[in-house]
Amino acid sequence: MVNENPLILKRHLEDEEGAMLLQKERATSSVRPEAMATFIFGGQEALSRRLRALAFIEKDPVFDTKDRKHLDQKSRYVRSSEKAVHLVLKCRRLGIPFTQMLDILNVALDEITPTDVHTKMAIPSLMHQTTPEQRAKWLPLAENFRIICAYAQTELGHGSNVRALETIATYEPSSQSFILHSPRLESAKWWPGGLGKSATHAIVLARLLLGGKDKGLHSFIVQLRDLRDHTPLPGVTLGDIGPKLGFMSVDNGFCLFDHVRIPREHMLMGLAEISPDGHYRKRKGANGGEKILYGAMLDVRAGLVERGGATLARALTVAIRYSAVRRQGYAPSPPGKLSQSAPLELQVLDYPTQQHALMPLLAWSFALQITGQFMRRRYKAYLRELDLSLLPEVHALSSGLKALTGEVVSQGVDVCRRMCGGHGYLLASGLPEVFSNYTAVQTFEGTAQVLEPQLARFILRLSMAPTERPKASGRGAATAAKAPFALSSDFDYVPLAAGKTFVRCRAATPVAFLDPAFQIEAYEARVSALLLLAREEVEADLRGGEGGLAASMMKNGVLFGRLSRAHCQLVLLRRFHEAVAREEGRMTMTTARNGGVDGEGNGGRIDLGAADGSEEGESEDREETVTVGPAEVRVLRNLCHLFALSGMERDMAEFRARDYLSSGQAEMVSREVLRLNRTVRAEAVSLVDAWLLSDKLLGSALGRADGRVYGALFEEALRSPLNDKEVSEAYTLHWRRLLMAGDCAWENARL
Ligand SMILES: Cc1cc2nc3c(=O)[nH]c(=O)nc-3n(C[C@H](O)[C@H](O)[C@H](O)COP(=O)(O)OP(=O)(O)OC[C@H]3O[C@@H](n4cnc5c(N)ncnc54)[C@H](O)[C@@H]3O)c2cc1C
Repeated sequence: MVNENPLILKRHLEDEEGAMLLQKERATSSVRPEAMATFIFGGQEALSRRLRALAFIEKDPVFDTKDRKHLDQKSRYVRSSEKAVHLVLKCRRLGIPFTQMLDILNVALDEITPTDVHTKMAIPSLMHQTTPEQRAKWLPLAENFRIICAYAQTELGHGSNVRALETIATYEPSSQSFILHSPRLESAKWWPGGLGKSATHAIVLARLLLGGKDKGLHSFIVQLRDLRDHTPLPGVTLGDIGPKLGFMSVDNGFCLFDHVRIPREHMLMGLAEISPDGHYRKRKGANGGEKILYGAMLDVRAGLVERGGATLARALTVAIRYSAVRRQGYAPSPPGKLSQSAPLELQVLDYPTQQHALMPLLAWSFALQITGQFMRRRYKAYLRELDLSLLPEVHALSSGLKALTGEVVSQGVDVCRRMCGGHGYLLASGLPEVFSNYTAVQTFEGTAQVLEPQLARFILRLSMAPTERPKASGRGAATAAKAPFALSSDFDYVPLAAGKTFVRCRAATPVAFLDPAFQIEAYEARVSALLLLAREEVEADLRGGEGGLAASMMKNGVLFGRLSRAHCQLVLLRRFHEAVAREEGRMTMTTARNGGVDGEGNGGRIDLGAADGSEEGESEDREETVTVGPAEVRVLRNLCHLFALSGMERDMAEFRARDYLSSGQAEMVSREVLRLNRTVRAEAVSLVDAWLLSDKLLGSALGRADGRVYGALFEEALRSPLNDKEVSEAYTLHWRRLLMAGDCAWENARL
């Protein structure tokens, strides 16, 4: 049998070179992964929580993912259901609270389960769109998984255009109930995760009809299945929508309602209420209303940005480790000197082209992580103080960032796959699974084409219609003085663009581009030029009487997408610089306190093959362990430069608009990018190590921490169901008919 072949087993044991190469990379890097990890995950406490979550999953065979590659849709759904249920029951048994369970789900489980929508969308809706009485009834049921709730918004006929959704909820005062109905096939709910086979209930978005009047979309909690035997309730037609590109472990479903009655109390009445006699009233301020909902969306979007960074880091861990292990091709010999001995092949990570593909993405993974954490802190501050003034800005920004993150990470993961050559195409690399699951982020909760204009419109309005605005202090004060809400300094360029104040870049040498102030100025100049262009287009349209602002925005959608992305990249760059500057400041203080002795030199090496094996509580010991030292901060600074300059190189046409950069300066930027690529390459393996992705979580033969790539690839190949038998059924059923056809009867086994 091929999978017991002694030759393969022996070669597997000899697979030493990869291990040696990764060891060398780690030994020559100045980055200590464990120290860098405290930076990546936002401090020791967050890191400890993460390691605990990983350890919880790693030790338990039910959560194993090895079988996943060979399962069909049905089996994957059954397996992911097993994992979801096991996780809840185990947490219940160990007394692990719901919030901690979410950590485990989000960070460590590595499976999209049928309860993801329940925890990430339905429970937040039950928290933020309900009255205190409704919360008291539904939240404990949902958080204890006595019910499983889908979030049913999208319909077969409509997704982005939420206003056109067709499901109807007609209120009947005589019975104090709503009648839910899907008037056409196109009004079937279509896509909700968990709806197909798992959910007992759904938060259904439907059009409220009251006394013949359409009151717009409202949310209702609707029971779908019998709690005793899980069969659909009368009038409810349910099912799975079929195999997909990714998300195969989830039962995305459809649902049609045929005059289904639900009690009046099942409308979520946190934002608007209906009295028993059918009197409708919008609530104001009672529980923060729409503003709370608005804020909750920020939390979800911050999570998407952070998870985008982590997903990219995961793909990069595979691609960078493999590129360090993989040898392919020879360094050109110097002219006239032909090598006598067989030269050693190059590590593919040493090709400038490979570095150019991967190193800027590594910088992106850090930028996204830092910015996601920043958004989360903003959200927490907002919850603490309920300061609504910054919400419009943050909400607009979160739309643009969600769109940009989805695009950059999806493309980035695919770049990582391609940089692994043919082996990247194998499921055994782990990369196709990451791509096919992640790319859905570009669709759900709004596509870029729908989200980017929201941020662009916000920026455009700031520049076009200054009205009464409250006072704000700091750099953003000038702009905020004209806004009906507070603004951060991220919008400082708006008055410059409105005043058509354009500068030219003053950098005379490549090194000058390493000044953070230069970089910020360049990104501001780029977005200002785009903003002015957008304004000119819109003003021309308005003067020409070709419809209003909305018509002009639709016509200029492509330009608005660029404006949104340019603003988001400016914000990402600012956050990156701020985070690095904070660490630099801390270094200076520590060095001063220690009389010049800095915090380096405590090892900082960890076992990367497995997640931290510490039991609950043990990880508190880490509190006084490693934090970033000067070496790590230097590397972070270079990553930040690379983020800035590679972005300029990629979108150079926009940086050259209004002659901000000259062609000579553009060339300097490109040269500096290549130099930074080389600098970061030297640290790349340790930098991906710092994301602390265990082999089990990575599920990749190419990304193994020990570099034993080829043996792992063989192991995976031998697991192929086609290798179950030496002679396949296909031979018996088909090939034999061809090979032994007609009068051909081989007398010998060999020719
Ligand atoms: C994996 C996955 C899970 C999902 N889970 C859920 C769930 O749990 N619950 C739920 O309710 N839904 C869910 N969805 C549905 C998802 O939210 C929608 O698919 C999404 O909102 C896009 O809507 P649509 O599919 O109707 O696309 P459409 O709106 O038809 O878009 C088609 C194309 O038209 C473009 N377009 C549409 N409107 C505009 C516009 N105004 N301007 C410019 N371009 C436009 C889009 O960008 C896109 O390119 C899920 C989808 C996926 C893929």
